[in-house]
Amino acid sequence: MTERELTGWGLRNVAHAPVVTPQSVDALAQALAQAAGERQTVCLRAGGGSYGDAALLDGALTLDSSALDQILAWDATTGVVTVAPGVTVERLWRRILPDGWRPAVVPGRSAVTMAGAAAANIHGKNNWRTGCFGDHVISFELALPSGERITCSRASHPDLFAAAIGGMGLLGAFTSLTMQTARAASGLVAERQTAHGSLAALLAAFEAAKGSATDLVGWVDTSARGAALGRGLLGETRELAADEDPHAAETLRSAWERWPSLPVRLLRALPTPVIPTLARPLTHPAGVWLANRAQWERGSRAGAGHWRRISYPAANFPLDVIPNWRDTYRPGGLIQQQAFIPAAQAQAAFTQLLTRAQAAGHTPSLGVLKAQRAADDFTLSYLVDGYSLALDFPVLRRSEADLLKLLHTLNDITLDFGGRLYFAKDSTATAEQVARMLAPANLAQFAALKARVDPHETLQSGLYRRALRPALRPAIR
Ligand SMILES: Cc1cc2nc3c(=O)[nH]c(=O)nc-3n(C[C@H](O)[C@H](O)[C@H](O)COP(=O)(O)OP(=O)(O)OC[C@H]3O[C@@H](n4cnc5c(N)ncnc54)[C@H](O)[C@@H]3O)c2cc1C
Repeated sequence: MTERELTGWGLRNVAHAPVVTPQSVDALAQALAQAAGERQTVCLRAGGGSYGDAALLDGALTLDSSALDQILAWDATTGVVTVAPGVTVERLWRRILPDGWRPAVVPGRSAVTMAGAAAANIHGKNNWRTGCFGDHVISFELALPSGERITCSRASHPDLFAAAIGGMGLLGAFTSLTMQTARAASGLVAERQTAHGSLAALLAAFEAAKGSATDLVGWVDTSARGAALGRGLLGETRELAADEDPHAAETLRSAWERWPSLPVRLLRALPTPVIPTLARPLTHPAGVWLANRAQWERGSRAGAGHWRRISYPAANFPLDVIPNWRDTYRPGGLIQQQAFIPAAQAQAAFTQLLTRAQAAGHTPSLGVLKAQRAADDFTLSYLVDGYSLALDFPVLRRSEADLLKLLHTLNDITLDFGGRLYFAKDSTATAEQVARMLAPANLAQFAALKARVDPHETLQSGLYRRALRPALRPAIR
């Protein structure tokens, strides 16, 4: 056990806690049961990719699953894989791609683990088409604070299956997960970026591309105002069919081996603080404006918008290649607000979110738009049929209180439009806001399960203390 300082990915949430990194899933299950027996509070952690306080709690025994990275079973004929909880997206993808398979749903960070992906029920840039991570989970084993280990699927313990996926590590610890992966005919994908001069035009371009694209993601110019508000670049990816890549066996084998490219590997060899220090001005208001301007000009110039072929990892993890990019936000860190809004309301809601942020003098340093699909089978689902806009807000100490006030308003605006917030990114939602976004029946169902499988509230997190527990309390009555 080591006493450590832990942070959320956004660096603003900090906790000091004893950390144990079990070397086997049996040791993970035992540590949880022993702590529960001693009435200790436990926080589960894995890749540390949650932006806020979902994987940390001051003083709580923190059980870190990241060393449990074995691929336990792989069937290259069916694409069914069983993994230990700490297997990362990168590790899984590297293993299965040469056999012509890829994970069905991935986030924008390759170091996210399967436990973290299941606990948050993550979505990818293919969410409107393929659904969320949980839609591809066949079964999992959950270690409970009682010491019991239960195998859950849609047929066996369906209530726990639906609640532990997206349950933010508050019901038990995943000790293994079995999932269906997806076919990949090549290690390359076709990709292009097109520019759209307003939010309405960008959303219309998404709608038009949904029928043919496999992945869609929008970069939003957060500085643009007036008629250009919400203008941006649509990134479209199309997977290749078997006959489109004559060297498929080679590209499947080498896609991950050649990523990141040599120049990026050389950049990574620079002393750690060099790039974040050089890029730091880009998180300040004038820098944000400049960076937006440069990105928009690059994306909208003549000749942009043509299709090119790039590897899967290059298409999926563009931010991963910038070494330590989050350090750019030191010392205050960043807060991400991701608003999930029903399709019919998306334009009005995103217009309000961007306008309010700009008017408050907190222009986000990054805006990312995605097409989403509801996932009502999962108890604490944040997904809706529509769109999400993720906004990164640099935290500057001198204006932090003002920013927090703004974020409270942005959360309310999101909920006013029938939208939802995402626990994996959140660090500002209140209990009232959580209670507004989830149906009372779902809160009651989660509260009942929590009382049944974790009666002493062994499993907690900053998120649980701040927003979930107080939102669940009334549901228990
Ligand atoms: C750069 C970046 C890009 C991202 N892009 C996306 C994206 O496109 N889509 C998306 O949906 N998300 C995205 N995320 C968020 C990320 O996918 C989630 O926060 C994910 O939960 C992180 O998982 P992790 O392995 O890093 O785990 P942590 O952050 O360490 O933990 C995540 C959750 O899992 C729980 N947990 C940990 N171990 C276990 C266990 N063994 N059993 C049960 N619960 C456990 C924790 O308590 C916590 O609630 C992104 C994050 C980053 C940093």
